Amino acid sequence: MLCEVYRQGVSYLVFEELESIPGFLHAFTTRRTDDGDFAQAGSEKERFLKALGVPRRQLIPLQQSHSDRVIIAEESACGGESPCVADGVIITAPEKYAVIQTADCLPVIAVEPRARALCAIHAGWRGTRARIVEKGIQSFLKLLGTSVQDLRIAFGPCIRSCCYRVGDEVRNDFQREGHPVEQIFQGNRLDLSKANRLQLSKVGVNDVLDCGLCTACDSGRFYSYRREGHTGRMWALAGFGRR
Ligand SMILES: [Zn+2]
Repeated sequence: MLCEVYRQGVSYLVFEELESIPGFLHAFTTRRTDDGDFAQAGSEKERFLKALGVPRRQLIPLQQSHSDRVIIAEESACGGESPCVADGVIITAPEKYAVIQTADCLPVIAVEPRARALCAIHAGWRGTRARIVEKGIQSFLKLLGTSVQDLRIAFGPCIRSCCYRVGDEVRNDFQREGHPVEQIFQGNRLDLSKANRLQLSKVGVNDVLDCGLCTACDSGRFYSYRREGHTGRMWALAGFGRR
């Protein structure tokens, strides 16, 4: 079940099913703050980190580029001042937090509670077309040597098919890449969530916690690139604290 938490002047969303994992911290930010819905974009993040008790130095920032690249944080030299160029990150150490930034794209968080490991992914239409979620979760499982039954996977807010009309060329691209377009498009409207759930089912994941919320429908709560153009970004944050 999805809950909205208000703490220290900011609001964020959490899944109860993930909150109950010992030591695991996750949150999907919203744009709502005490200053009103349209506080200066980005100004809510420091308060958000404070509310969660996460120091900024423990974040693993990504320079997202709509690719299919998922890195393993512990094997990457990037971090700190030089963000890792990737659209997904696997973390197996404590006190390191993934941050996926979105304003319509789908943020995905996968957790393996016993291994205290997680994988966070940014999936817009390009990443989805490149199957970043399918590839990322496969790498995650391979690295951990565990089975899909041990994973819990959540989808945060993203643009939904109600608001996501795309051009013919996008649909044609998906078709060319062998995606089941009849299932993931309704006319020219793309269902990002469904497309990624179908990718997950190919690796054996059938249970996904999907918040079901549309970023373009709910302007009071979310930034939406499609609706607003230049706008802020939401964060999906996930990591394990000290043991
Ligand atoms: Zn919508």
